[in-house]
Amino acid sequence: MKAVNESIQTKEPSAHEYIKAVHKKVRDRNPGEPEFLQAAWEVFSSLQPVFEQHPEYVEEGILERISEPERFIAFRVTWEDDAGNVHVNRGYRVQFNSTLGPFKGGLRFHPTLTGSVVKFLGFEQIFKNALTGLPIGGGKGGADFDPKGRSDREIMRFCQSFMTELSRHIGPDIDVPAGDIGVGKREIGYLFGQYKRIRNAFEAGVFTGKNPDNGGSLIRKEATGYGTVYFVEEMLKGEGLSFEGSRVIVSGSGNVSIYAMEKAIEFGATVVACSDSEGYIYDPEGIDVNTVKRLKEVERKRIYHYLEHHPKARFGKDKSDIWKIPCDIALPCATQNEIGREGAEALVDNGVKAIGEGANMPCDEEAVRILTNNHVLFAPAKAANAGGVAVSAMEMSQNSMRYSWTSEEVDEKLHQVMKNIYRNCIETAEKYGAPGNLIAGANIAGFKKVADAMLEHGLN
Ligand code: GLU
Repeated sequence: MKAVNESIQTKEPSAHEYIKAVHKKVRDRNPGEPEFLQAAWEVFSSLQPVFEQHPEYVEEGILERISEPERFIAFRVTWEDDAGNVHVNRGYRVQFNSTLGPFKGGLRFHPTLTGSVVKFLGFEQIFKNALTGLPIGGGKGGADFDPKGRSDREIMRFCQSFMTELSRHIGPDIDVPAGDIGVGKREIGYLFGQYKRIRNAFEAGVFTGKNPDNGGSLIRKEATGYGTVYFVEEMLKGEGLSFEGSRVIVSGSGNVSIYAMEKAIEFGATVVACSDSEGYIYDPEGIDVNTVKRLKEVERKRIYHYLEHHPKARFGKDKSDIWKIPCDIALPCATQNEIGREGAEALVDNGVKAIGEGANMPCDEEAVRILTNNHVLFAPAKAANAGGVAVSAMEMSQNSMRYSWTSEEVDEKLHQVMKNIYRNCIETAEKYGAPGNLIAGANIAGFKKVADAMLEHGLN
């Protein structure tokens, strides 16, 4: 009897038991972090066939190790507004995984940013960055600072205070931040300027998304949106479909959304709706993306001002109603969990054919289930929106060479990266028994790339 018990105890756990046990540990260790747990489970739930084929990942504890950040930094950011009032925000940087290269990922300035959101974004970034095939690890950061309504000087002072602490933790070979929601070229300029001053060195490669006139890469601003459309075009092609002649909804009106709209229109689609945090606009004749660009990039205005220039368009206050507009292709490019059950059901009822996630985790678990159960083609974020960070990695290369590629060169490389990611996801899904499932393909291909490199580096 004793021998039997011992053999039970020492028996290798099955892949299923192993994933369940690590999932429980991750839940216990990260209470009150729903976004991080959602992102972790999304990856875990694809991995059973991988652990069945690779018992060495279980033996080396890869899943448990990959779910724990190498380092998590939270810090106080004190700054003064124009009226002389003192404010305190919380800054973050999660350095999740540096197996494939320096930590790499954006900074988000948004009042809803928490440790959980930073960790979900950082965790996603590990696998997304691995999928690009470029030498970058995974990280993310930001602050619960609300840039809305702040003057240029206030933004500058906030960025300087934020970077005074962050500069201790980053470097071109250590950790390379970039933008995300609330952090664009202007903020990156202030952050880079402060870093340069503190280090007394011009280390261009410490930041990506810089102004192309001043060390940045051409096409970086467009890359996430263009890349999403390139990826979705590959997915559509696989089914004999295309953007040509289709009706498209693109939520959001930031960098990702604007350039997804621009590329979809170039590919022959009519984009009928987009949104911001205060509502959505619907223009049945097709959104004029140049008006959106001017409103958002130059004038920093709200999306409803679009109606002043295009009186036939309509405005809706509830931004989640955007998914009730009939369309062939939906590209959620605003933020996490922007499509839930209701949105997914409306999209299915209206006959949507394809979803491309331009934002990070824009579809919640239930939405993904509804959409995929109804055979809607689904391009998951970590594959579909990897174009932004891919061009960031190209910016790092150009900075190292002290040389710039032309727009055409960068765009062509971006297009090729997105095609490669699509092919890798499709082939991996097929190989692991989930043909056509890009969610499984992206999770497994991203995970395997990091896991194999972690095995080579030994226990750490
Ligand atoms: N924030 C972007 C993302 O979610 C880009 C990160 C980067 O360029 O480092 O992938």
